[in-house]
Formats: sequence, C-alpha cells, structure tokens
Amino acid sequence: MPKVVYPGSFDPISYGHIDLARRGLRIFGELTVAVAHNEAKSPLFTMDERVEMVREVFKDTPGVTVDCYDGMTVDYVRSIGSHVILRGIRTVSDFEYEFQMALTNRHFADDVEMMFMMTNSQYAFLSSHFIKEAVTLGADASAFVPPHVEERMKKKLLERRT
Ligand code: ADP
Repeated sequence: MPKVVYPGSFDPISYGHIDLARRGLRIFGELTVAVAHNEAKSPLFTMDERVEMVREVFKDTPGVTVDCYDGMTVDYVRSIGSHVILRGIRTVSDFEYEFQMALTNRHFADDVEMMFMMTNSQYAFLSSHFIKEAVTLGADASAFVPPHVEERMKKKLLERRT
C-alpha cells in the first residue's frame, strides 16, 4: 500500500476532516495527517495548536500519523517517501480549486499523485472558516468539531477580544 498524506490547514480540524481521514484510512490502511504552516491564510491557531488538536483526535487510531510541514506540499510528501496526496471535495468550487492545485503540483512533481474523495453529505457544508465565524457569533459548534476543539476555539476567540 502506498504511503498517503492528507494535508491541510486544519484551522481547526472539523468532523468533516475527521470523516475524510477515517475513510481514507479504510482504503489505505495508513495515513499521515499533515498540518501545513500556511501563514498566507492567517490561521486562527498556531501550527503547534493545530497539530495538538489533530493529535488529540487520532491518539487512539492506529495507522494515523500526525505531522506538520512548511513549504510546498509535494516537497514534504516526497521527503517522507510518499507519492500520494489525499484531498477532500465538498463542492464544485472545491473541485475547481483542487483541479488547479493538482495540475500545478503535477508541474512541479509529476511523480506525486493527488487523490480525491467526496465528502460525506452530512459534512458537505462544513468549513473551518464558517465554523470560526459561527463560534465568534456565540453559536454552538458541537455538531461541527470535537469538544476539545470547541473549547480551544472559545478560549482563543475570547483571548482575541480581550
Ligand atoms: P487547505 O487550506 O489546504 O484547503 P483545509 O483544512 O481547509 O486546508 O482542508 C484540508 C482538506 O480537507 C481539503 O482537501 C478540503 O477539501 C478537505 N475538507 C475540508 N473540510 C471538509 C469537509 N467538511 N468534508 C470533507 N473534506 C473536507
């Protein structure tokens, strides 16, 4: 089985991400969830915080490794001896974005293949961006993120206000 990397910002990890990772794991048997530094997206959480939250989610899941990286995803993927990237598709707009990214990646690394899985319909509308907005407005996010993530979000948003 190829070594598979599921990269993303995970700012923060949601049930949509978790569902995709678990389904990927069922196919590939092993998976590395790789948290991208991605300062361009001005993340709410630091890289260490995002990694900690992802680690907590998968701490009892054999086959899942959690890691982080800076720089180009394809370089990271090659550096750990992998050549397969797993990504999720929720909407047509995701498809367009991922399609462009896949072709750009192919330009830089023809040996690295991107694989896509459709999200579970239950989570098709879920994005870290809207979860953050909802929590900022005081909404209950327990259907979107695990309890430890919701707690951290509330704390972080409170810190930002004070
Ligand atoms: P990035 O900044 O790299 O897009 P994200 O954390 O937003 O990072 O997403 C990482 C991957 O997880 C992407 O492939 C994205 O399509 C997928 N993803 C995000 N939210 C969901 C969801 N609700 N269901 C399934 N996949 C998702």
